[in-house]
Amino acid sequence: MEVFYKSTRGDGTLVTSSQAILKGLADDGGLFVPDHIPQLEIPLEHFADMDYRQTAYEVMRLMLTDYTDDELHACIDHAYDAKFDCEEIAPVKKVGGVHFMELFHGSTIAFKDMALSILPHLLTTAARKNEITDDIVILTATSGDTGKAALAGFADVPHTRIIVFYPKGGVSKIQELQMVTQKGENTFVVGVKGNFDDAQTGVKMMFNDSNLKQALNDNGLRFSSANSINIGRLVPQIAYYVWAYSRLVKDRTIKAGDPINFVVPTGNFGNILAGYYAKRMGIPVNKMICASNDNKVLYDFFRTGTYDRNRDFILTSSPSMDILISSNLERLIYLITGEKEVDCKAFMKELSEKGSYTITESEKELLADFYGEYASEEENAQGIKETFEQYGYVTDTHTGVANCVYRKYLKETGDQTPTVIVSTASPYKFARSVMSAIKGEQTADDFVLIGQLETLSGTPIPNAIKEIMDAKILHDTVCETGAMESVVRKYLGLEG
Ligand SMILES: *Cc1c(COP(=O)(O)O)cnc(C)c1O
Repeated sequence: MEVFYKSTRGDGTLVTSSQAILKGLADDGGLFVPDHIPQLEIPLEHFADMDYRQTAYEVMRLMLTDYTDDELHACIDHAYDAKFDCEEIAPVKKVGGVHFMELFHGSTIAFKDMALSILPHLLTTAARKNEITDDIVILTATSGDTGKAALAGFADVPHTRIIVFYPKGGVSKIQELQMVTQKGENTFVVGVKGNFDDAQTGVKMMFNDSNLKQALNDNGLRFSSANSINIGRLVPQIAYYVWAYSRLVKDRTIKAGDPINFVVPTGNFGNILAGYYAKRMGIPVNKMICASNDNKVLYDFFRTGTYDRNRDFILTSSPSMDILISSNLERLIYLITGEKEVDCKAFMKELSEKGSYTITESEKELLADFYGEYASEEENAQGIKETFEQYGYVTDTHTGVANCVYRKYLKETGDQTPTVIVSTASPYKFARSVMSAIKGEQTADDFVLIGQLETLSGTPIPNAIKEIMDAKILHDTVCETGAMESVVRKYLGLEG
């Protein structure tokens, strides 16, 4: 049965999956959601014999029904290839009593590669299917991780260009080097003299600028977004939850049909929502455990039923989870309102006007599949140290939050269900925080710490890090926030 998509805030108008991917966000500001969640069609035990690509295909063909089999296979083959540094793509490792699913073996060593390595292909295929002949210009502001993952995904993909703005001086040395050394004829990286919000605001203004839109059109170009609210990023993420389940069947931790838990270090609620969709598609999940850092808006929401962003923004050692508005939560709100667009829209209006909303008691009961907890900075550092000392296994700071939260969950519930911790970044990406957690405050240069981490962990330095150690700087454009549009016009060769 074909799956169509509609807005969480709209009037029920349906679009195809490829149209939803092309648009990114619905015209009314809502997010696209499937009109029904399809069921997995093959028995659970069969997944144990599949590789990652086959699993991804089995999941994606159910959600992206207007792509042909050939189109999906081509997208998957282009994405999950030798860019990943291991054959399994997402290895699942047993450490002590728990499993870690490592989603950081792609080109930028963070989990966003899982979706951003396939999105460019889904997007260009969608353009072709909908007879759009314009080249697609991806415009993104980044606080670090998304920019590099998007650059790597779109580099040299025909009929696309990608422009990334980052706050000059506002990202880590490693993150900046990763971006400014990016190869690819169609890539353009710009440092903005301002903070992330300034860069983000500048990008939003360009998206809404009708003169600029016209200038693009006149030159056979159109903007699109690689943002995490695009269903083209959500759907590929469902696959690795099915994959993790099948690995536990394969290693006989469970029998097909037995339940498992997932612990997900959460920021924008995209990753964990994909896990919840996997559950709704038929993967037996007992609890989706939502792990937050000190920015614990989601923890409070799951405990109280009130979402409240009116609080201080706390900078932590897990920066990709430093978020007060978890955009993808809107898709869960939509589901618990009984798929009532008006109710969902009303909550989102309260959120933007007052900064908070409270769901009803009966809506709250529908959140029983989730468990929210958080870990403080001290707890996280302590947990990283203990896991290394007990098992010789080093996690990054985001995965560290999930690991701590799992320990708290075990203490509170005593639940013995086999559990998978979703591991979202390589410790090498956050070497300073990780080495400080294990050895105490570090002051040495990042690359010195990276060398020490290699000795300590016994895991070789990944290519993503080796590449930037002596790579040429290819992007050195820096601009004032007010000059972002003229920089874009110049790069794209637009007049005016
Ligand atoms: C983006 C990111 C997260 C948060 O994922 P969401 O889908 O935003 O919840 C967690 N860890 C790392 C390393 C990330 O880059």
